[in-house]
Amino acid sequence: MVRGPQGVSALRTVGGLAGALDDALRLHGGTWIAWVGQHVPDELPPETTGLAYPIRAVRLKEREVSHYYAGFSNQVLWPLCHMFPSRCRIQQNYWMAYRAANERFAATVAASVTRNDLVWVHDFHLCLVPGLLRGAGVPARVGVFWHIPFPPPTVFGILRWREELLTGLLGADLLAFQTEADVRNFLANVRQFLHVPVVDDPPTVRLAGRDVRVTALPIGIDYEHFHAEATDPDTRERAARLRHNLGSDVVLLGVDRLDYTKGIVERLRGFERFLERQPEWRRRVCFVQVTVPSRDRVPEYRDLKRTVDEAVGRIAGRFTYEGRSPLRYLYTALPREQLIAYYAAADVALVTPLRDGMNLVAKEYVACRVGTPGVLVLSEFAGAANDLREAVLVNPYDPEALRRRIEIAVSMPPEERARRMRALDRRVATHTIQWWTASFLQLLENPAATLAMTA
Ligand code: UDP
Repeated sequence: MVRGPQGVSALRTVGGLAGALDDALRLHGGTWIAWVGQHVPDELPPETTGLAYPIRAVRLKEREVSHYYAGFSNQVLWPLCHMFPSRCRIQQNYWMAYRAANERFAATVAASVTRNDLVWVHDFHLCLVPGLLRGAGVPARVGVFWHIPFPPPTVFGILRWREELLTGLLGADLLAFQTEADVRNFLANVRQFLHVPVVDDPPTVRLAGRDVRVTALPIGIDYEHFHAEATDPDTRERAARLRHNLGSDVVLLGVDRLDYTKGIVERLRGFERFLERQPEWRRRVCFVQVTVPSRDRVPEYRDLKRTVDEAVGRIAGRFTYEGRSPLRYLYTALPREQLIAYYAAADVALVTPLRDGMNLVAKEYVACRVGTPGVLVLSEFAGAANDLREAVLVNPYDPEALRRRIEIAVSMPPEERARRMRALDRRVATHTIQWWTASFLQLLENPAATLAMTA
C-alpha cells in the first residue's frame, strides 16, 4: 500500500504468492491481515484500496521489517528451504525479530477472529503464528499453506530454532504443501526433531488430544482467465507485433523475479552454449528474458543483478549480427495483459529454476498455448514438474543439458508439440486456483475430506 496525495492506493506485488491470495480472497471473501507498509491506517476498507476485500494492517517498525522480512525470512528460511544452506545468514537478532513479528501478526489475528472463522496462514514468514493462536485459545480452525519447498532434516536441521518452527506450524489443524516430496520432508523433520507419532497414510501428525492433517495441494492458476486473454484478438495482434519487432523465426521466453533460485544465470549460459554450438540457429532465434526486480534490500540480490547484467551484455556483445541481437532483456514487472502477449508470442518457454515451490509461470504459459502449441522446457526441480510430466524436463545445473533441451524445443515437430501441450493443458485446466482454494478450505473445515487429485 502507498499513501499519495489522493490517499492510500494498492500496488500489486508481483509474484505467485500475492496473486494466489488475491484470487482466494476475491473468490471466497474474508479479510487480509498483512504488513502493508508504513504510514497506512489500521483498517483499509475496499473503497480505499480498490481491492475486493478489506485489509487489516499489522504494524512493523522499519528495523523489524529489515530483520524479520529481509533478514530471517529472506536470508535464512528462503535459502534454507530452497536448499542453499551456504547462503543462509543465521543470526540471533533476525530470529528475535521473526518471533516478535509473528507475535504481532498472531495478536492482530486473535483480535479479529470470531467463532467458526477459518484462519488461512500463508507461507514461511508466519511459522509461529499457528502455535501462538492455539496458545491463545483462538476459537477458529487454522490452516497453513507452505508455498515454497520444504527441505529434508539434513538441511532444515541446521537451524538451531528447528523445534520452535516445527512446533509453531503444528499449532495448525491443516498443513498443506506444494508436493508429496515436501510432505515427506516435513514429516521426516517432525519425526526426527519432535519425536511425536506420525502416520504416513493419510499423512497425519498425532499430538496429545488432536491430529494435524498434512497434505500436498499443488497451487494452480486462473486457467480460464489466461486462456481467454491469450485467445483474445487484441492479445493476438499484440503478440504478432511483438514477434515482428523481435524479427526472428523462433521466440524463446524466460519470466522470473530476480532471484538466485530461478537459475537465470545458468539459463543464460545454456543459451550462450546453444548459440556457440549451433551457429545455424544464431540468426533464427530470439530469447526474451523478463526479469522482475526483487528484494533489493538484500545485498546478494544486488550482486546477482550485476552478474545477470554481465551475462546479458556478454551474450549480446558476442552474437549480435547486422544490428539484431538474439537476446532481449527486460528488467521490469510487466502488467498481466502484456505478459500474456509475451506468452502468446513465444514458441518456447524456458522455466528452469534451480529450485522452486511450484512455478506459476510454467502453468500460465501452458494455459496460453494450447491453441497454438508451444514447448515448455521445465526444470526437474520446480514443484510444477511433478504435475507437468509432458514438458521437456531438464536439470538446470547442467549447461550441456540446457543446450540440448533448447535444441530439442526449437526443432520439435508440430504434432509432438500439440500432443504434449494437450496433455499439459488438461492438467493445468483441472488443478486451477479455484480448485486449490476450494480444496484448501474444504480440508480446513473437514480434515477427513478426500480430494480429487488426478487430471
Ligand atoms: N508476473 C507478472 N509480471 C511479470 C512477471 C511475472 O505479473 O513481469 C507474475 C506471473 O504472472 C506469475 C508470478 O508473477 O503469476 C510469478 O510466480 P511464480 O510462481 O512463477 O514465481 P514466484 O515469483 O512466486 O517465485
